[in-house]
Amino acid sequence: MTEYTITVDRDACDGIFACLVRDDRFVEADDGTATIDEDAEGIVEHRTDGRSVDVTFEGDGKLNDAQQAAAACPVDAITVEES
Ligand code: SF4
Repeated sequence: MTEYTITVDRDACDGIFACLVRDDRFVEADDGTATIDEDAEGIVEHRTDGRSVDVTFEGDGKLNDAQQAAAACPVDAITVEES
């Protein structure tokens, strides 16, 4: 099964939220930056050091949404890597 990892660099994030409207797994964190819903479906692993969030998902049902969110981010704070 396809797996992919979404990474959000929360230091780079500017809180513009173009990602939230393209992929509903992105949510606003308490500090006004974007993070990824810890309860999102298909999560294999959710890692964070506070400033960076790395979440691995299985299945490719929402891979396109994640790629759209990454493409829309004006500061390139989101990366999506297939594994
Ligand atoms: S689109 Fe980019 S800058 Fe805007 S909230 Fe999402 S991650 Fe942050």
